[in-house]
Amino acid sequence: MKTKVELTVPESLRAYAEGFIATTPEARMQAVIDWSRGNVERAEGPFAAGVFNLDNGSCIAAGVNRVISSGCSVAHGEMMALMLAQQTLEVVNLAEKGRFVLTTSAQPCSQCFGAIPWSGVEAMEFGATRDDVEAIGFDEGPCPENWRELLEGRNIRVTGPVMQKEAAAVLQEYARSGGNLY
Ligand SMILES: [Zn+2]
Repeated sequence: MKTKVELTVPESLRAYAEGFIATTPEARMQAVIDWSRGNVERAEGPFAAGVFNLDNGSCIAAGVNRVISSGCSVAHGEMMALMLAQQTLEVVNLAEKGRFVLTTSAQPCSQCFGAIPWSGVEAMEFGATRDDVEAIGFDEGPCPENWRELLEGRNIRVTGPVMQKEAAAVLQEYARSGGNLY
């Protein structure tokens, strides 16, 4: 029986993300779309996310989907970005360290939707929609129809879809490449 879980993102992401500044939803989305495309090239799921400081645009954490390489179904891009941001800032509730946004290449699945309220981000922005994700065969899980209002009701501002066409194009590239669907 194992008593330890280890999750990592590729070290190469650091070169792009560390010191990276993006002050608009489009600039942040362009970055996470680039990361998601890089993840497809590594034969991983076509999803990425980042946590950014809303006041100065600095990237706190970059996450990519690591389900295949880690053998963990929870290792979605959003989860990786949130966990890495919390570990980087050494705080469970990010709101204690500033104003942060979670930028994700696709609308969060039911798991990631569920994780957002406890992360302390004050905003979330997404690229591709649930329909885009499910069109290539992924299962987004039992997300409530009014997920957006539920987050807004917890004072988490939702923006999206942002650059939907560009974000969905990565999903389609993944499907064409015969990527694993899980
Ligand atoms: Zn997810």
